[in-house]
Amino acid sequence: MNNDLKIHLSHILKESITVVSPVHGGDISSAYKVKTSNNSYFLKLNSSTNAAKMFQTEAYGLQIINEANTIKTPKVLACDIFQNSSFLLMEFIESKLPSSRDYINLGNQLAQLHQCTSDKFGLDHDNFIGSLPQSNKPNRTWTDFYITERLVPQLELAIQKQLLSKYECPSAQNIKDFLKSLFKDIKPALLHGDLWSGNYLISKNGVPYLIDPAVYFGHHEVDIAMTKLFGGFDATFYDAYYSNLKRDENTSTRIEIYQLYYLLVHLNLFGSSYYGSVSTILKKYF
Ligand code: ADP
Repeated sequence: MNNDLKIHLSHILKESITVVSPVHGGDISSAYKVKTSNNSYFLKLNSSTNAAKMFQTEAYGLQIINEANTIKTPKVLACDIFQNSSFLLMEFIESKLPSSRDYINLGNQLAQLHQCTSDKFGLDHDNFIGSLPQSNKPNRTWTDFYITERLVPQLELAIQKQLLSKYECPSAQNIKDFLKSLFKDIKPALLHGDLWSGNYLISKNGVPYLIDPAVYFGHHEVDIAMTKLFGGFDATFYDAYYSNLKRDENTSTRIEIYQLYYLLVHLNLFGSSYYGSVSTILKKYF
């Protein structure tokens, strides 16, 4: 990190910076731990064209989750541009490996977040899933929202990038016919929106935090689908979660349908290694 930025940040923090060290684990921005004599902060830096918008929507998403008062998020201290680089500065959470008790708290608190509702599916602004734009245009029904704002844009992008052929892709009407019996009595729930194992932290004193969200109001099983995409969280997390919110005989099918969105996003972001998983779900259901 250059010295001018260090000086700029120390003005914002009103503290002198003593040590800056890189933090690994993210796949979009460069990240740093910024230490002063009394505190530690987490900084993300990115100079791509979308970065300012990405950081603004990330900061806004963290604030929306925080205001729901169910699960903590790091406090955002600044979100701005300095010398052509966008930055997001927040509280640093010293974390540890989760214990069973921590997973139980995470499961219970996520279920509480999912009980925050809205009168429609979507959000008042669009955001990003990874570095791809994610439309949150409100729709009257969950079926319409999930088809129009989630599956169709990713299917079209995959066709455009020649990662899928249009013959492999179901039409919006095909999807709608299939989802009719599967999507019933779904209420808008506040979602993290990108809940893989790298997007939560357990603080040293056992407090769960959500980071890097892609929030909107949608079906609560979408977050569970993402937790299960790469191996799943600890069983105690699911036991706690499902002691609050019920499953039914169609939950596992819906989870695959929700994983299809995330797999399409991975296909579009990282390429053909995700083709097999996408194709398996498309062939199974459409
Ligand atoms: P990216 O948007 O580039 O994927 P992330 O927001 O996921 O970056 O952050 C990268 C990594 O940095 C995370 O996996 C996590 O380990 C760590 N991290 C993120 N936010 C914080 C924070 N507030 N405090 C401490 N570590 C954090």
